[in-house]
Amino acid sequence: GSADLSCDLLVLGAGPGGYSAAFRAADLGLKVIVVERYAALGGVCLNVGCIPSKALLHVAAVMDEVSHLGDLGVDFGAPSVNVDKLRGHKEKVISKLTGGLAAMAKMRKVTVVRGYGSFIDAHHVEVEETSGEAQAKTGAKKTIHFSQAIIAAGSQAVRLPFLPQDERIVDSTGALELKGTPKKMLIIGGGIIGLEMGTVYSTLGARLDVVEMLDGLMQGADRDLVKVWQKMNAKRFDNIMLKTKTVGATATPEGIKVQFEGLDGTKSEGLYDLVLQAVGRTPNGKKVAAEKAGVAVTDRGFINVDVQMRTNVPHIFAIGDVVGQPMLAHKAVHEAHVAAEVAAGVQLGDANLAKSQFDARVIPSVAYTDPEVAWVGLTEDQAKAQGIKVKKGLFPWTASGRAIANGRDEGFTKLLFDDSPEAHGHGKILGGGIVGTHAGDMIGEIALAIEMGANAVDIGKTIHPHPTLGESIGMAAEVAHGSCTDLP
Ligand code: FAD
Repeated sequence: GSADLSCDLLVLGAGPGGYSAAFRAADLGLKVIVVERYAALGGVCLNVGCIPSKALLHVAAVMDEVSHLGDLGVDFGAPSVNVDKLRGHKEKVISKLTGGLAAMAKMRKVTVVRGYGSFIDAHHVEVEETSGEAQAKTGAKKTIHFSQAIIAAGSQAVRLPFLPQDERIVDSTGALELKGTPKKMLIIGGGIIGLEMGTVYSTLGARLDVVEMLDGLMQGADRDLVKVWQKMNAKRFDNIMLKTKTVGATATPEGIKVQFEGLDGTKSEGLYDLVLQAVGRTPNGKKVAAEKAGVAVTDRGFINVDVQMRTNVPHIFAIGDVVGQPMLAHKAVHEAHVAAEVAAGVQLGDANLAKSQFDARVIPSVAYTDPEVAWVGLTEDQAKAQGIKVKKGLFPWTASGRAIANGRDEGFTKLLFDDSPEAHGHGKILGGGIVGTHAGDMIGEIALAIEMGANAVDIGKTIHPHPTLGESIGMAAEVAHGSCTDLP
């Protein structure tokens, strides 16, 4: 049929996946159209995720740091917080970045079409224009023809169906709006997003409760790392409810009354000024009429892809949160580059580009709490569960000059090396974890070591600058190997 617009590559969604794919494809010479329902580019990560949460966490970390300085002889007194100004700072950070993306799109001649996109067949999407903050559909429609497409529709927060509609019950997006500072806050779900937001609100003055169905907070990380975070943060919490379900809630004038039930049957109740639901995110795969293009979507809303990010329909790709765990921005960006390169390779007849694949050995995870908790590759828990023999090198920051000078020596750095008989004592690094300030900034080195197949000697003999926290990675490798000096 006839179309209003036409392109080589249509990208549905402008999050880290979508904009990265669009920019790479345009750089490679394709005519690209991006469809995004929001006015701003950047998706969840820039608008209501990674970036605004870190803008607030930075302020919280500085406030916490300053409060410790009293012990060192410098007293700033009690902080006075202007929430409106703080919110303004966060908004400025977002608009700086999303504005930058808009300029980069323009520079590359990527066309951005504002509206809600749905497939009508394997070569067309219909876009219903949206406007305003609420992305209200205006009724105006456009049809776009594409040769190839990338679905980068992302994910959204899971809502517990039994919670009432009330402005005191929010998801991460609502929490980031920072409407005020509650006295008493409940976090439902003890994962990274919940604990990061809890850190911000608690530093601003809220007392926290957290409820988690599983037997520990920050699932996925080794318990020894989490323990250090938990000890440092115990003072923020009135109640950490593990192996406990949230079973009901009622909105009352005094607050939100929430009912809990332990896995052992124990019932309890709490009263809160703010309730944050952070029980996970669900992919948007079912919301783009993918079936009309013949693209298979799983019951849970994920879109399965091959190593080239192709769906079951070879000229339609999918990337980012919509293709599966881990739902992280850096994963989305790398998948985006693969999809864009393969699409460009096909279109331009470039065999090298067409061979691009997603082949990451590991994807790091970071909780930007205080201290930060970061891990990558094999964890000790996984090694145990999978019967993989590992040699551990653990370097406590009580032995790090820099950590002591910073007044923050609670952390440690841990590396895990292959200790199977075939490794003959020179096993490659399989994983690592860091808990401590700036752990997230350092975990990339361990990811690089894993990708390069480094062993303990390689890492231990790499000269790290002194005195830095990053030095702890070299030290942990030396610990794993006893001493490196008498080895080749
Ligand atoms: P998204 O960012 O979800 O973008 C999808 C885009 O598609 C959206 O803009 C949406 O409006 C648009 N869209 C969807 N359907 C349509 C349609 N039919 N028509 C038009 N447009 C459509 N990750 C990290 O790596 N580090 C962090 O520190 C981090 N912190 C986070 C903190 C919070 C509070 C949250 C919620 C998430 C955080 N994440 C973090 C996760 C990260 O935000 C996501 O992994 C990332 O945004 C996924 O990128 P994406 O491109 O797949 O999708």
